[in-house]
Amino acid sequence: MSNIAGKVVVITGASSGIGEATSRLLAQKGAHVVLGARRIDRLEAITSAIGGTAEFMQLDVTKREQMEEIVNFAREKFGHVDVIVNNAGIMPLSKLEALKVNEWDQMIDVNIRGVLHGISAGLPVMKEQGFGQFINIASIGAYTVSPTAAVYCATKFAVRAITDGLRQEAGNDIRVTLVSPGVTESELADSISDELARAAMKEYRQISIPSSAIASSILFAIEQPAEVDVSEMVVRPTGSL
Ligand code: NDP
Repeated sequence: MSNIAGKVVVITGASSGIGEATSRLLAQKGAHVVLGARRIDRLEAITSAIGGTAEFMQLDVTKREQMEEIVNFAREKFGHVDVIVNNAGIMPLSKLEALKVNEWDQMIDVNIRGVLHGISAGLPVMKEQGFGQFINIASIGAYTVSPTAAVYCATKFAVRAITDGLRQEAGNDIRVTLVSPGVTESELADSISDELARAAMKEYRQISIPSSAIASSILFAIEQPAEVDVSEMVVRPTGSL
C-alpha cells in the first residue's frame, strides 16, 4: 500500500516549476496538498486543476508569520501536518563585482531565511504530533560554486548545512531530507537581471530534466517507511558535470 495517501503536505514555491510538479504528483498519489507562493492567480489555477482536497494560501516565505499561518491552516484543515517541502527559491545570478547587493539580500531572504521560517513554523508542530518530515530543496550549487553564482551557491550551501543540522537534532520521530537538483526545467532563470549571467545560463541550461523528475524524488523520500530517512539526494541530468 502506498505510504503517501492521506498525508498532509505543505509545499512552498508551488506556483511553478518543481513546487507545482510536486503538488500535482503528490495529490495524484492521494496526499492532501497545501500550496503556498506569492502569485495567487497561479495557485488558484493549479489547485483547481488538481481538484480534490488541494488547498492554497498566499505565502511570502520571507515573512515568518505567513509561514506560520500556512502551517497552522494545514493543521486546522486536516488535523496534522506530515511534510513541509521548503522549495521556494530565487536565482538572480551575477558576478560579485556587479554589486547587485539588493539581489544578494533577496537570495539570502528567500533561500535561507525562507527555509528557516519553514523550520520554525513546522518543528514545534511536528514535535507535538510526534511525527513529521522536512524536505528542503538545495541544489548542485550546494556542493560546488560556479561562476556568477557565489551568493546563490552560498545560500544553497547554507540550506545543506541547516538541513544536516536539523537532521542531527530532530530525533527518532522527524525525518529530514535534502533534495539537490541539477538543471531542471522551470522559471528559475527568469529572475536573472544581469545580461552576462543570463546569456551564460541559457547555454548552461540547455541540458535539463523535467520538474517531474524532482517531484518523483520527493515522492520517493516521503513514501519510505517512517523509520527510513532518505537524508540526501542529488538528482541531475544524465551526463551533466
Ligand atoms: P521556479 O522559479 O519555477 O519556482 C520558484 C518558486 O518559488 C515559485 O513558485 C515562486 O513563486 C516561489 N517563490 C519565490 N520567492 C518566493 C517568496 N518570497 N515566497 C514564496 N514563494 C516564493 O524555479 P524552480 O522550480 O526551479 O525552483 C524551486 C527550487 O529548486 C528553488 O529553491 C531552486 O533554487 C531549486 N533548484 C532549481 C534548479 C533548477 O535548475 N530549476 C536547480 C537547483 C535547485 P512566486 O513567485 O509565485 O512566489
